[in-house]
Amino acid sequence: MQCLSDRGDPTLFTDENGKTDILSLTLPELEAQILEMNEKKFRASQIYKWLHQRRVTDFDSMTDISAQLRDRLKEKFCIKSLFVVKRLESKRDNTVKYLYRLSDGNHIESVLMEYEHGNTVCVSTQVGCKMGCRFCASTIAGYKRDLLPSEILAQVYTAERESGRKIGGVVLMGIGEPLDNFDNVVRFLELLSCKDGMNMSLRHVSVSTCGLVPKIYELAKLDLAITLSISLHASDNKSRSEIMPVNDRYDINELLKACRDYFKATGRRISFEYALIDGHNDSREDAERLAKLLGNFVCHVNIIPVNKIKERDYRSDRRSAQRFRGYLEELGINATVRRTLGADIDAACGQLRREYEI
Ligand code: SAH
Repeated sequence: MQCLSDRGDPTLFTDENGKTDILSLTLPELEAQILEMNEKKFRASQIYKWLHQRRVTDFDSMTDISAQLRDRLKEKFCIKSLFVVKRLESKRDNTVKYLYRLSDGNHIESVLMEYEHGNTVCVSTQVGCKMGCRFCASTIAGYKRDLLPSEILAQVYTAERESGRKIGGVVLMGIGEPLDNFDNVVRFLELLSCKDGMNMSLRHVSVSTCGLVPKIYELAKLDLAITLSISLHASDNKSRSEIMPVNDRYDINELLKACRDYFKATGRRISFEYALIDGHNDSREDAERLAKLLGNFVCHVNIIPVNKIKERDYRSDRRSAQRFRGYLEELGINATVRRTLGADIDAACGQLRREYEI
């Protein structure tokens, strides 16, 4: 992996009191700052381990650091943490949904899901979203700001601590468009996979995008081991533009060209998400067009019966999804229907925050 710490200036991660967000710093950056304070370099790895392995949220818990250095750290740095405002646990399948408050009073959501192979957490990357997808609750009240790398990471750490369950995977499919917060997301991936921190293999991480084409090319250059998921949701430009305004900027042809390039550069199979909406994109003809588009791709299609949100009248169900999957299989396209988790707790992202903020 390219040294991602070259990306962006760490002094940008400074709060209104001039304190640096220490959880967003990579180990080499923290070392540089500790040396600047005329302290020994090894202090930086001690502090990094307190933050990323023992996950303390205040400097006074760092018991092998002298009180004097702890005071100096408090002057220079802040530790971002999340406040759990609400926790909803599904009675059906152990899915837990968290509503977190950020230090500036904004709210975000994460969802912890249990699969056969372990626990995965779905994290948010922005407060709100600019993309305007018609069926998505995250975008309705618009966009407020990007999340810091620390604020994305803290969603993983807090869910693990709060649930007592070991987290083995992360999907960037919560509120926000990850590739619209590119540098912070890439820095988050570096922190998450750092061997002195959580040490998660990027093979267990999926990044989902509505299709910001220039950023897909940029991501391809980094050659990360992540799975790229593309929210396709339609098989022609007209019906995609009706539900996804981003399609007017980058249409299906440009998007699939970028995906081909991504596969060539990384050798990684792409996953296409297809939110099925009754009467909009669920016909046999839609399946045929989709099969034609994806025919020569090494890919996988994930069909999601659209989650109902109260602002819109889109609907679907598992039966339609299975029927659509049948069409695709007949046409030689590898497809699955996504398991519906947390149906009793409105686990579609953005719904809880909407209820809480408005
Ligand atoms: N912005 C990114 C990631 C966030 S959404 C993206 O667009 O990919 C994660 C996935 O959930 C996307 O595929 C998104 O299109 C889908 N999604 C959003 N609202 C949904 C809903 N009501 N029903 C089904 N899928 C939905």
